[in-house]
Amino acid sequence: MIDLETLVLLIFVAVLTLVITTYMELKKKLKKPEYVTRELLECTSCGYKLEHDHEPGDFISMFKGECPRCGSLMRIKAIYSVEKKTLIPPQ
Ligand SMILES: [Zn+2]
Repeated sequence: MIDLETLVLLIFVAVLTLVITTYMELKKKLKKPEYVTRELLECTSCGYKLEHDHEPGDFISMFKGECPRCGSLMRIKAIYSVEKKTLIPPQ
């Protein structure tokens, strides 16, 4: 026969385990941010900057597209990863 003290202790341990497990799960979820690769394009003529999603095969200093402001060639200036949640939604 289990006495009251042991029972209370058992319940306490069980609750504590549950709390810790829930906390760990939550922490695991929070620690997994999603990343997206972006690239920064700069106009070779007027310096206009444009940022969009990185496409496979793109590399830094590659010419890509035309400047929406003056029509000159755009050049990839930087490629980087950003957290998905910090992204500015498209207008
Ligand atoms: Zn331009």
